[in-house]
Amino acid sequence: MRIKSYASSSKGNCYLIASDTTNIIIDIGYSATKLLKEVNPDALLITHHHSDHISGLEVFKKHCDCEIRQGLFDLIVGDLLIESFPVSHDVESYGYTITGDERVTIMLDSGTVTDIMQEQIDLADILIIEANHDEKLIHLSDYHEELIERILSDTGHLSNQQTAQAIKGIKAKVYLAHMSENSNNRAYAKTIIQKLSGKEVEIF
Ligand SMILES: [Zn+2]
Repeated sequence: MRIKSYASSSKGNCYLIASDTTNIIIDIGYSATKLLKEVNPDALLITHHHSDHISGLEVFKKHCDCEIRQGLFDLIVGDLLIESFPVSHDVESYGYTITGDERVTIMLDSGTVTDIMQEQIDLADILIIEANHDEKLIHLSDYHEELIERILSDTGHLSNQQTAQAIKGIKAKVYLAHMSENSNNRAYAKTIIQKLSGKEVEIF
């Protein structure tokens, strides 16, 4: 399986999960025109309807007649099996597991790691997971109190510390996604998550 990030931050999110013959795009918080020049998608899966995940959706729909799905379903596309599961955000949101010769799970915005999410994390060969903010650095950011409260809530976003806890002892290769530029720091996040989890991680 092949994975790629076209955009991964609080400003935009768009990822490719692919076999040799089938291309699945997760979220379109990225220029659809640029994306479609590079890749011919067989399906687009939406995690949730916040603008950093769907800003390119209208243009995408105009130029790609592939399947577009959000919700709970099992679906075969090409040689890949797609399964979905709910995550915990302040709007209806899903994570996806895509299985070909490897099992790839992607989970983005979520305020907590639910039992269902942890099951998917434990089974994955490749895991793309949010590490949005750092629980210490967020208090040094210029965010106002209500926004900090929302991010830290059970329907907000995953912190470095929550993600580290969730990936302890798992077999998957881990890619950190949706990292905030205001309340996290790439080098620091990598160090702290590796220290707390005992696992090597890559950053998207
Ligand atoms: Zn969101």
